Amino acid sequence: MEIPYRSKDESIEREFKLRIKRLGDGPVALLFLDLTRQKNLETVRRDFVANVSHELRTPLTTLSGIIETLQGPAREDEAARKRFLGIMSKEAARMNRLVDDLLSLSRVESDERMRPIEQVELNTLLQSCIITMAAPAKSEKVDITLLGDESREYFIQGDEDQLRQVFNNLLENAIKYGGANGKITVGIELVDHDATLRGPAICLCVCDTGPGIDPLHIPRLTERFYRVDSHRSRAVGGTGLGLAIVKHIVNRHRGRLAIASTLGEGTAFSVLLPAL
Ligand code: ADP
Repeated sequence: MEIPYRSKDESIEREFKLRIKRLGDGPVALLFLDLTRQKNLETVRRDFVANVSHELRTPLTTLSGIIETLQGPAREDEAARKRFLGIMSKEAARMNRLVDDLLSLSRVESDERMRPIEQVELNTLLQSCIITMAAPAKSEKVDITLLGDESREYFIQGDEDQLRQVFNNLLENAIKYGGANGKITVGIELVDHDATLRGPAICLCVCDTGPGIDPLHIPRLTERFYRVDSHRSRAVGGTGLGLAIVKHIVNRHRGRLAIASTLGEGTAFSVLLPAL
């Protein structure tokens, strides 16, 4: 006989399947199968599909509306056509970014168990990311400063492309959410002993002088599609996947991501990676 059983303690809901079997004429065997993890994974997968569909539906609805208008009432309207083409190109770019981020996330998730083996020097990599972000920073009138000795070398065992993605995402967020005329400070240093990583670590920090994040959101920021302000994120071209990608890459490197923020003062994202 099989009996599904739901136990509710105060914090976590667990789900079991209970199998009862009589052993001959004698005792009864009870087998508890814990289905909680399997059910949670099903929920995560369902939510993920719902989120992706929702993210795609918004630009698709806009595109369909515009196509209809251009085929009908605005057929001969040159000015409207120009304006609509601009919107279409923005929406297509948004879908492209979403697909790129989804592919990155799936790639990163699939090799999360394989620790990278290359040797990477982080100071040079960080400086090259800052140069890549110079144009968007300039257009937002944001100043980026790198603290510390530019020629000092910090080696780790890592995947250079993925680490580049981490720093680019963090810098991009600091520019997008840090506010115009803000200041971004980037730091890199050796920590002799990090208790969580149980050894020497390289700490990289991207700090901005933006509006900060309410502490209530911080534990959820690395969830896929979690945004503090969806409207603002979409307005600045966000997909809601950047920090989820960062978290998975940091996990693959056996590192740690820490987020500290003070409302009205700014936010600091720190990445700790085991040093070589
Ligand atoms: P998005 O594509 O929306 O930027 P992310 O995963 O990169 O997605 O970030 C998730 C959310 O975290 C953002 O939507 C934003 O609300 C918040 N966030 C990220 N970085 C910062 C920052 N430096 N300052 C304030 N809020 C931030």
